[in-house]
Amino acid sequence: MHLGEMSVFPKISLKPEVTGYLRNVFLNKEVLAAVGPQEAESRFQKLLTCLSHPPSSTCARASTHLAPLEDIRLSLEEELKKQQKCGSSAEEPSVQIAPHPRITDVLLLPVDGPRAVERLSSELVVDAQCGSAVLRGAHVFAPGIVASPKYMKAGDMVSVFSDLEGRCTRGATRFQGNKVFVGNGVAEMDRSAIFATETPARGVGVRMVDPLYKSPSFDGVLPSMVFLQNLPSVVVGHVLAPQPGERILDMCAAPGGKTCHIAALMGDKGEVVALDRIRNKIDRIRQNAQTLSLQSIKAFRFNSTQAVSDEPTQEAEGPPFPPESFDRVLLDAPCSGLGQRPNMASTWSLKEICSYPPLQRKLFQAAVRLLKKGGVLVYSTCTVTLSENEEQVAWALSTFPCLSLQPQEPHIGSEGMLGAGLSPEQLRLLQRFSPELSWEQTDTTASLARRADTDTIGFFIAKFLKT
Ligand code: SAM
Repeated sequence: MHLGEMSVFPKISLKPEVTGYLRNVFLNKEVLAAVGPQEAESRFQKLLTCLSHPPSSTCARASTHLAPLEDIRLSLEEELKKQQKCGSSAEEPSVQIAPHPRITDVLLLPVDGPRAVERLSSELVVDAQCGSAVLRGAHVFAPGIVASPKYMKAGDMVSVFSDLEGRCTRGATRFQGNKVFVGNGVAEMDRSAIFATETPARGVGVRMVDPLYKSPSFDGVLPSMVFLQNLPSVVVGHVLAPQPGERILDMCAAPGGKTCHIAALMGDKGEVVALDRIRNKIDRIRQNAQTLSLQSIKAFRFNSTQAVSDEPTQEAEGPPFPPESFDRVLLDAPCSGLGQRPNMASTWSLKEICSYPPLQRKLFQAAVRLLKKGGVLVYSTCTVTLSENEEQVAWALSTFPCLSLQPQEPHIGSEGMLGAGLSPEQLRLLQRFSPELSWEQTDTTASLARRADTDTIGFFIAKFLKT
């Protein structure tokens, strides 16, 4: 049986209350008046479908603070060719890596899929997070495995399925629940090692040899030279436009993808203060900074809602900071994450989704106070709701008369979404990555760059100037 068809990839599965909420967002009065009910409904249905599929290209941010883009592109090509040679008998493996036409530190690689892959009788089940990683080119890491054939030995071929609703019991031998096929692989460990109780298995449990979506595995590939990052996340760094010698605050920084980009854009000259509320995530920021040879990053565990202090302090290196301490502030806010792809199922309740806007406003208030006059504040999220995006912008503009919206460079996404009462001029200054506006699963004819720009995760960026 061939499993490359749409039918095997359902729309994202959400709680009915969440689907209803999102439908009201995408079919709000302003949208209905502008595009009509049919088009609004079609966009919403497209969104639900494309969220469960991975984007059709992989974006790698190149360490252009360490080497020219073309040198990095050639080295990456060589590394990935070596990887392909190991995995197949093909004479001369071909790897397509293109520089992004407008973003100077981005390399693009096409994703091949969904491919027609034959399902095998041996079934292995992984959790949904691991399933999504496999769809983006990863191998199966042992901790992600929840069920495997009873007598599975290293070297056995298995079909890998993603457990959509987290219902499979760890250590099961089979699973009849809601699952989706993500490709075939070779077990690297016996079942007994994977589910050993004393020493939980680590490392690759199944090496994917015939995935439903084929893209190179970047595991251990040129770690100091390329950093996998969604295109809209790279755009954020450029929109913030940090300059050498400046002092920048990244308020919600872990694992540090954007922090490192900011430091790289400054040529590692100046200071990038990275805060995150969760202690062990701070280690990830430091590790990433070290891997990318960046010295200008200072990471602290801190609740950023309290990062500003009016108490006169001695010049302290870490938080809290006096008002107007930073030239630029990035608030890449904690959010409902409903733009992430591929995401085949979310068990989040509406209450959880609606808990974010109040937190985002507290963080935003601190951000405005910490920013110098004449400084730039960038607010971003990886979600598609109005309440976390355009409505936050409308609230910010009415709450802080010192803020004005600024044009963004590059502006690759679409404009802001109707429904929050913003003017057409204001909407044009916002950048919303809306995969549902362009997404056609069959459109493989568009150029790699065009697909990379439009077939992205759902994302939102607003840029403000404080006067
Ligand atoms: N900017 C990061 C990057 O590009 O790698 C991703 C940030 S993620 C969207 C949001 C982060 O906010 C999470 O790591 C979370 O721990 C952190 N966070 C949530 N509430 C926070 C708070 N009150 N103060 C600081 N960090 C917070």
